[in-house]
Amino acid sequence: MDDLLRAASAVRDDVVRLYRRIHAQPEIGLQLPRTQAAVLEALDGLGLEVRTGRTVSSVVADLHGGGDGPTVLLRADMDALPLTEDTGLAHASVVDGAMHACGHDAHVAMLVGAVRVLAARRDALRGTVRFAFQPGEEGFHGARAMIEEGLLDAPPVGAAFALHVSPNLPSGSVWTRGGPIMASADTLRVTVTGRGGHASTPHLARDPVPVAAEIVLAIHSFVTRRVSAFDPVVATIAHLDAGRAPNVIPERVEMSGTLRAVSPGGRALATEGLGRLVAGIADAHGMTAALDVEPGYPPTVNDAAAAGFVLRVAADLLGPRRTGTMPTPVMGAEDFSYVLERRPGALAFLGVCPPGTRPADAHSCHSNRMVLDEEALVTGVALHCALATRHLAAGGRVERLDGDARPAAS
Ligand SMILES: [Zn+2]
Ligand SMILES: [Zn+2]
Repeated sequence: MDDLLRAASAVRDDVVRLYRRIHAQPEIGLQLPRTQAAVLEALDGLGLEVRTGRTVSSVVADLHGGGDGPTVLLRADMDALPLTEDTGLAHASVVDGAMHACGHDAHVAMLVGAVRVLAARRDALRGTVRFAFQPGEEGFHGARAMIEEGLLDAPPVGAAFALHVSPNLPSGSVWTRGGPIMASADTLRVTVTGRGGHASTPHLARDPVPVAAEIVLAIHSFVTRRVSAFDPVVATIAHLDAGRAPNVIPERVEMSGTLRAVSPGGRALATEGLGRLVAGIADAHGMTAALDVEPGYPPTVNDAAAAGFVLRVAADLLGPRRTGTMPTPVMGAEDFSYVLERRPGALAFLGVCPPGTRPADAHSCHSNRMVLDEEALVTGVALHCALATRHLAAGGRVERLDGDARPAAS
């Protein structure tokens, strides 16, 4: 393990250089030609079997070890967000309206670092390490597109792991949990249709505004009364558009919001129940309303044994004080969920809190002031390498965690 940390430290400068280069040139969505080119350039000459996406600008690189064995997948997402950077960094974004504010630049650099370290030790690997560089995580379903293009096939992937950085965790610490780790994120749209009229004579109209208000409150009652507190669901109506004038009853009210759940069952219960509720309330008032649910990412559900394996490997690599079991999922969403629907594996968070800042005070992911501790990238490189190496050494079996990992000191 010390050996892997040393090897990761040896590629530190190249990893940081690549991170800064990608940070300065962020690209959004499914087509990331500059980022893809940077990855291909970094992989060139390392002896991997490399293929690029047909419909999206992905890179999949297989490193075949010196012996036969299973295939383990390591994923880095590559895309940026539509934000204007306000960090003052020397390597800040030079692209107007685009910024790497979710750390995917760091994910790419860490995974390239892991390719370099593992390529130099390929003879000791028993099986294949598949490195996946994925576009379009920020709402574009990039992982699903890559799965459709064979990400998990030929040879079939047995298990999959991904790291996501967080400035709100101590730098170099590793956190995960078995079961749900991130939520699903669907978009709710409700249209209530009545009949417009004069505000002074509502009895001659069909006023959709109080019906819309009733629907908003009923959605919250539904979540607290029909959904188990141990299988959380969040429903938020964040946008409401009714009339334009104080003396005119509008024809319709439009609302939208988000629905988050941490299990497929909770998601289905809420989707079905809210549809019935919305239609039923409007009907009771002689109006019509419809709920449209635009599906986003499913819940990200870690395999319990795989999450335990990550914590054990991280504890062996970094010491038990730098690993922790997350007490709850986070309600953000992640399209690595599509991979974990099909293969056992785990997503884990890597703390990248910048020096001199308390984790709770650090600007979080998706803030245009988000910065990270570049020294934590070495930890990420070593952890990727250790996960792949240990997983293949165990013949693809996921080692179980003995007891709970101790929480990281913060
Ligand atoms: Zn993000
Ligand atoms: Zn992200």
